[in-house]
Amino acid sequence: MDIVLAQPRGFCAGVARAIDIVDQALVMHGRPVYVYHEIVHNGHVVDDLASKGAVFVDDLELIPRGAVTVFSAHGVSNAVVEKARQRELRVIDATCPLVTKVHQQARRYVRQGFTLVVIGHAGHEEVEGTLGSVDGPVHLVSVVADVAALDIPADAPVAYVTQTTLSVGETQDIIAALEKRFPGIAGPALDDICYATTNRQAAVQVMTRHVDLVVVVGARNSSNSNRLREVAAQQGVPAYLVQGPQDLDPAWFSGASRVGVTAGASAPEVLVQGVCERLATFGARSVRELPGRAETVTFRLPEIAV
Ligand code: SF4
Repeated sequence: MDIVLAQPRGFCAGVARAIDIVDQALVMHGRPVYVYHEIVHNGHVVDDLASKGAVFVDDLELIPRGAVTVFSAHGVSNAVVEKARQRELRVIDATCPLVTKVHQQARRYVRQGFTLVVIGHAGHEEVEGTLGSVDGPVHLVSVVADVAALDIPADAPVAYVTQTTLSVGETQDIIAALEKRFPGIAGPALDDICYATTNRQAAVQVMTRHVDLVVVVGARNSSNSNRLREVAAQQGVPAYLVQGPQDLDPAWFSGASRVGVTAGASAPEVLVQGVCERLATFGARSVRELPGRAETVTFRLPEIAV
C-alpha cells in the first residue's frame, strides 16, 4: 500500500493566526485566557491550548468580568460583541479576516436596503456570527430546496453572502437557484468561499484520480473537513473522516493499494503524520506528496495588549 498526500492540506492562514493569538495572549497576560467557543474546530488544538492555560467557554456569563477573552476564528454576532462590552471583557478578536470581510459585506448590503440571504449551514458558529452581524432582514439557505421556500416578496431587492467553508459545487447550484428566483440579486463577484477551502477541495479532486480510498483528517464539527470527505465521495472514491490515527479501521484498507490522505484547515500536520505512521503498521511502504497550489497567504495579528 502506498500513501498519497494532497497538497495543500491542513492549516490555513486564519487558523494559524487564531492559534498564534491565543499563544501570544497567554505569554502576555498569563493564564487563564478565556476563549469564546473552540478557537478552531479541532480537539487536538483545543486540548493543547487548554494545557497551556486557555479556558474555552460557550457562554460569556462564565467569564469573570474584565477578563482577557479571545473570540474564535469563526467570528461572533453583534449581540456577543455587545455582551462582552457590558461585561467589560478585554477582547482580542481572532475572527479570520476573511470572515470579517463577509460580515462587512453583509452589513453594507443591509445598509443599502437589501434583504440579505446567507448561504450556509444552520447552527455553525460562523453562520450564527454572520446572521447576527446585521441589523435587518436576513434569511438562511442551506440547500437548493430552501431557495423556493424563502419568504421574500418577488420585487424585494435581495443580496447574498456565503459561509467561507462550503462545497464549491453545491454553492454554485444554490447561487444559480437564487439568481433564477431573484433576477438581479446582488452578491460577491466570486462567492465568499475562501481560498483555503477552494484549494483543499480542488486538491482532493485531483488526488481522487490517483487513489483507491481517501482519509480526511479533521474534527467531526469541522465544516471544511466534512466537505473534503464529501468531495472525495462525489468522485466515487470511498472516503472517511478521522480525528486522528486512533480512528483508522484496518478493514477499510483491505484491497486498497493507494491511500490518499488530506486534512481540513483546522487539523494540524502532526495528526497527518500520525495517520501515516499508523498506515505504515497496516503495510503502507511509501509516502509521496502530489504537486499542488502553493499558499502564501498570511494574516497580521491584532493588538494583543488589551
Ligand atoms: Fe479563514 Fe478560510 Fe481558514 Fe476559515 S478556512 S479560518 S475563512 S482562511
